[in-house]
Amino acid sequence: MIHFFRKKRKRKLRKTLEEWKKILTPEQYHVTREKGTEAVFAGDFHDSQKKGTYHCVCCENPLFSSEDKFDSGTGWPSFARTHNERSIEKRYDYSFKMIRTEVICAVCEAHLGHVFPDGPKEMTGLRYCINGTSLTFSQEMEPPKP
Ligand SMILES: [Zn+2]
Repeated sequence: MIHFFRKKRKRKLRKTLEEWKKILTPEQYHVTREKGTEAVFAGDFHDSQKKGTYHCVCCENPLFSSEDKFDSGTGWPSFARTHNERSIEKRYDYSFKMIRTEVICAVCEAHLGHVFPDGPKEMTGLRYCINGTSLTFSQEMEPPKP
């Protein structure tokens, strides 16, 4: 059972498709604006173990933390929870004769991937299956050595 929450929304960032086309690479545009899916193991980050925060490639909204990332073996970056409660929104997706839950950026509505209820039980039980193409990463700074 997936619950849908309607939280008070952040102000949306809206651009036309032409505007997005100018600032995104063709691959980023296809995934985030045309609901594309990157080829398995093709995107960045699926095996990254660096510490830091994953942001939306379109608007830099913080989406996921490396702490919640796990190796799902699927070839896409997978997370057990979102960075904060305003990171994403969920929508039903009826494409490909399946009912799935689509995950979009709460600020700019970029398509990010889907969430499935088969994540690690010791975490949240959720698996956010995300296209690496829709993410940018900011690495956590190491504390300065004494
Ligand atoms: Zn965004």
